[in-house]
Parts: sequence; C-alpha cells; structure tokens
Amino acid sequence: MIICPCGSNKTYDQCCGPYITNLKSAPTPESLMRSRYTAYTQANIDYIQRTMQGKAALNYNPEAAKVWAKNALWLGLTVIAAPELTTPTLGCVEFFARYQLQKQKFFIHEISEFHLLNNCWYYVNGQQQTPLRNSLCPCQSGKKLKHCCGK
Ligand SMILES: [Zn+2]
Ligand SMILES: [Zn+2]
Repeated sequence: MIICPCGSNKTYDQCCGPYITNLKSAPTPESLMRSRYTAYTQANIDYIQRTMQGKAALNYNPEAAKVWAKNALWLGLTVIAAPELTTPTLGCVEFFARYQLQKQKFFIHEISEFHLLNNCWYYVNGQQQTPLRNSLCPCQSGKKLKHCCGK
C-alpha cells in the first residue's frame, strides 16, 4: 500500500493513481492539481503534458521539465485554498510545493487556473506568488517562512 505523494493521506490507488494511469479523469481542479504534483514526483511528463492547455502548454518545455523533475527530490505539497468554482468551467487552486535540487531547497507558491474542456479539467495558467519571509510559512507548519521552508 503506497501513500499518495500528494499528501492527501489516501493510498495512491484511491487518490491520484487512477487519474495518472488514465482510468478516469480528475473530477475537480484540486484533484487534477494533486495528480499533477504526484506525476512530477514520478517525472511523468506525459501526464503533465496531457493535462495542460492554453498559455501553460505554450510555454512548456517537456525535455527540460523531464530533466528537472528527475533531478528534483519532492518534499511535499500543501493545498492552501481550493475555492468553489468561479464558473462551472473555471477553477483556481493555491498551492505550495517543496523540492530539493542538488541539496538546495526550493519552493513553488502558485495560484493555478484550471479550465473544464470536454468534461476534463486542464491546467491553463499559473501565477507565481512571493510569500514574505516574515510571514507564516505556506506549508502551514505554524513557523515563519524564514525559519521553515524559506531557510
Ligand atoms: Zn494524491
Ligand atoms: Zn514551511
């Protein structure tokens, strides 16, 4: 039994697994976002590419992404906010993901935008956020960023 890398505390087979293996499509922006994180932990760039459209897809370099994802050690995901859908076909998810590359720690704090096209959710755009070093860490540890993931 493998616990899903996305941090849901569910097993991989009851969480991101069925989306990544294409048994079914992710039913919400949050589930798609989680499955994309999990796919990155597997360096599964095919899945990443298959679940993006529009602006995000235009700027995407799969070869570079593959190298990056293979070299990264993924440390965890925090879904900060997954509000109700803005419209039935548009949703946003704010997340904080941490990884390590050559012993250096990095994080991604992003508000992602998702569109529903032909009954499937796609990642279409992302806005990088810059958390303040003195504010509480977005990983929700309760510590300040500078004493936690921003060290
Ligand atoms: Zn998952
Ligand atoms: Zn933290």
